[in-house]
Amino acid sequence: MKIGILGFQGDFEEHAKIIMDIGHQPFYVKYPEDLEDIDALILPGGESTHFAKILTKYGLGEALKDFNRPLLGTCAGIILLANRISGGFPGFSLEKLDIEVSRNAYGRQRESFEDEVMVEFNGDRRSLIGVFIRAPRITDIGEVDVIARLNNGEVVGVKKDNVIGLTFHPELAGEDFFHRKLLSL
Ligand code: GLN
Repeated sequence: MKIGILGFQGDFEEHAKIIMDIGHQPFYVKYPEDLEDIDALILPGGESTHFAKILTKYGLGEALKDFNRPLLGTCAGIILLANRISGGFPGFSLEKLDIEVSRNAYGRQRESFEDEVMVEFNGDRRSLIGVFIRAPRITDIGEVDVIARLNNGEVVGVKKDNVIGLTFHPELAGEDFFHRKLLSL
């Protein structure tokens, strides 16, 4: 399959490596026409304000609102998917997940951390390592399924139909679980 990754900024290369390692073809998306023949799209981590600017500039944001194929957003990516954002609106959101996220809610760069994440995705349960870098915090959940929690119960991953949002970076721990699930959708 051909898997699109927003290719402007952030850790798109780490996502591309995981896609290649599981036997699929990554494709960096920059313009609306790049969406035409991809099977799914990944919104990587980075800086959501920067993504918002670029998405609006090239018309890609509007095109993405009508994009109905599977989506995976990690960290800044989940901010771009949320329908409610506190801690500074980045300037654009796709509003595909009914959650409130609070940007940078764990603190500054030095408060970044790795932690065990308990995952349950369509009956598939496991524990894996999540990397949280200036991560947003999910402060309210609406009509979504919870798929990942920290050991203290805090929700760090949600899913609605074929849209997955994670506040952490599985790709920075070399973790391919969610990428495989994205392809299964
Ligand atoms: N702090 C960033 C933001 O608010 C997200 C950080 C990340 O993607 N690792 O956009």
